[in-house]
Amino acid sequence: MPFSKTGGLADVLGALPQAIARLGWDVTLVVPRYRGTTAGTRVDRVAITVGGYHTDVNVYQEDIGNGARALLIEEPSLYDRDSLYASGGVDYPDNARRFAVLSRAALELSMRNGSGPTVVHAHDWQAGLAPVYLDTVYKSHPILGRPASVFTIHNMAYQGSFEPDWLPRLDLPWSLLSIDEMEFYGRVSFLKGAINHADAITTVSAQYAREIQTPEFGFGFDGILRARADRLQGVLNGIDTVQWDPATDPHLPAPFSRDDLAGKRDAKAAVLARYGLPADAAALDRPLIGMISRMVDQKGLDLIEALGGELSTLGATFVILGTGDTRYEDFWKGMAVAHPATIGVKVGFDEGLAHLIEAGADLFLMPSRFEPCGLNQMYSLRYGTVPLVRRVGGLADTVRDEQEGARSNGFVFDDYTPAALLGTLTRALGIYQKKKRWLRLQRAGMALDHSWDRSAREYVKIYERAISKGDSNGSR
Ligand code: ADP
Repeated sequence: MPFSKTGGLADVLGALPQAIARLGWDVTLVVPRYRGTTAGTRVDRVAITVGGYHTDVNVYQEDIGNGARALLIEEPSLYDRDSLYASGGVDYPDNARRFAVLSRAALELSMRNGSGPTVVHAHDWQAGLAPVYLDTVYKSHPILGRPASVFTIHNMAYQGSFEPDWLPRLDLPWSLLSIDEMEFYGRVSFLKGAINHADAITTVSAQYAREIQTPEFGFGFDGILRARADRLQGVLNGIDTVQWDPATDPHLPAPFSRDDLAGKRDAKAAVLARYGLPADAAALDRPLIGMISRMVDQKGLDLIEALGGELSTLGATFVILGTGDTRYEDFWKGMAVAHPATIGVKVGFDEGLAHLIEAGADLFLMPSRFEPCGLNQMYSLRYGTVPLVRRVGGLADTVRDEQEGARSNGFVFDDYTPAALLGTLTRALGIYQKKKRWLRLQRAGMALDHSWDRSAREYVKIYERAISKGDSNGSR
């Protein structure tokens, strides 16, 4: 676990089902069996029909712990592709069908136990039709007419919008092509459908829940979300505290903990060596700034690019890991060529190296334009690596600036400008020289609990509320 991954959604669905099962719920996760997934044993073959499109899918089952199970939907013509959603930067033209089949398969399979689910929890636009189907196709269904639906928005930037002529091919009536339904700038949006049909809507931090109700962060959905504000709530993601534990992490040369941080210097030496950077005593004394990120605008790469060569004058070393837009990959590669002793760059996806950077860096850079929750800053906090973030979304909810009192654990800037980033970087590097103050920041971060249990308890409350609301209405 996770079975497949492009970003944080995989981390969430790799951990949340088990955490909810730990609280006594019977949880089934349904995901596509994408190319490269080998998990599960074949347990079923079911016929799915969506808008006249008929297919037989194979269902694989895998136990994922605490009694929870994953059902992986195998349909090679839909899911056995080079990547998950797009090829060469262009979305697959049949994404509407690919994910309609996923939602339909999940709902059909949920009836296998005879009584059906009490709650259907859908994540992001890919599962956005599940609440819509429950409220339309299955509204009067003896079993599927009953469950409450919860929809979680992991990132408003991805909206699942398609040409309107998809509606009949999704088994949906033309009436849904209305401004109060799924219509969004002449197209149909799965995201909007889910927002308008789910009994409860959540997103992945309290701050992001507020932000997406504003034009700056709402991607045109802010009005719809304000209208549904009474059912919108933020639940901060957790992190996998077993995978991400500096005391037991197999990717580190030596364990360390809040009480004994000595092993962190070993990780610093190891990460410098992995990047082919000098790792002598002087290099180990220089502050090391880490960044692990998809290299896209969202993550503040344009701010960093604007600072350019100025970064090399700060007296720090940089280790960068990520993939994304060619423009940003090329920027960082150019920086590494120009400053071979102090800037290391690896373009690629490397889980083990990500752990080593989190452990070996002194400061972690996350200057996002927007950040629904963000996981890396929570890993950083747990690894005694002080995060430097912009005050948005989950970053604002987890990082407290050095100047903001007792529970400070990082550095936070407000304005999305290169100058604000540079000013805060300079301030942070100044404090790095004050060893006691730095240690206080590290230890405050390491004391925090970002485990999934806390988030799971909040989701369960939301489920229970959604169920009881449906019961008191006499229907869903
Ligand atoms: P997002 O979901 O927007 O990409 P998050 O911070 O929520 O951002 O989650 C990103 C996840 O993907 C983290 O677990 C992070 O460590 C991981 N990640 C991103 N890029 C890489 C990479 N190049 N190599 C290894 N892990 C990566």
